[in-house]
Amino acid sequence: MKIRFDCHTHTIASGHAYSTLEENIKAAGTAGLNGLAVTDHGPAMPGGPHDIYFMNLRSLPTEHLGVKLLRGIEANIIDYEGQLDLPEYPLKNLDFCIASFHEICIAPINEQTHTQGWLNVIKNKYVDLLGHPGRGRFPFDIRTVVQACGQYNKAIEINNHTLNRENDREICREIAIVCKELQVPVMVNSDAHFTHSVGEFSRSVNLLEEIDFPEELIANRSLESMREFLIKRGKRCRWE
Ligand SMILES: [Zn+2]
Ligand SMILES: [Zn+2]
Repeated sequence: MKIRFDCHTHTIASGHAYSTLEENIKAAGTAGLNGLAVTDHGPAMPGGPHDIYFMNLRSLPTEHLGVKLLRGIEANIIDYEGQLDLPEYPLKNLDFCIASFHEICIAPINEQTHTQGWLNVIKNKYVDLLGHPGRGRFPFDIRTVVQACGQYNKAIEINNHTLNRENDREICREIAIVCKELQVPVMVNSDAHFTHSVGEFSRSVNLLEEIDFPEELIANRSLESMREFLIKRGKRCRWE
């Protein structure tokens, strides 16, 4: 199983990551990737960039050093109505949007509330990917949320960084099993906060191989599959 597109990476703009975009792109090339999404944290993250940082992502080229680029964000979910921390503009001009729960931006409540929160986020037309849902601090009803992702053409992340934590591995595994059963796409991402993690997917890949997960359900396995995913989502794709 080889994944060629890392759709979740951070740069120094996130406030607690340690590489520049240029360095991440070089690392992506070294790791044999064809594509990289730059997805810095949204403005509600302490030390995160202002809205204007996301507005000006349009100045990035489609491709740099042989690596295709997606201009994205890891938006913070800031309430259980599903509100994100970036307004419609510039959100609508970005290529890719991850939405994630982070404890520093929203306090966990209970499973029912988190489930409702995810369902509200899924209805946001700009959100492409549910970020690290396997983190145990925000338990939710997996089947209900995966079903809704299928209905609204969203992908669910199998986040390599989350799999550092043994307790969260079981949750990630359960999510992947339900995605396989309901034929809902996943994305395997590094969530890199430094160059050495860009393209590092080994824990996620091991988990998926363990359950015989079908490769065709991994939306970011190649440039072509990413293109298909974005087009199916009604987004533009900036490469042929
Ligand atoms: Zn995150
Ligand atoms: Zn992240």
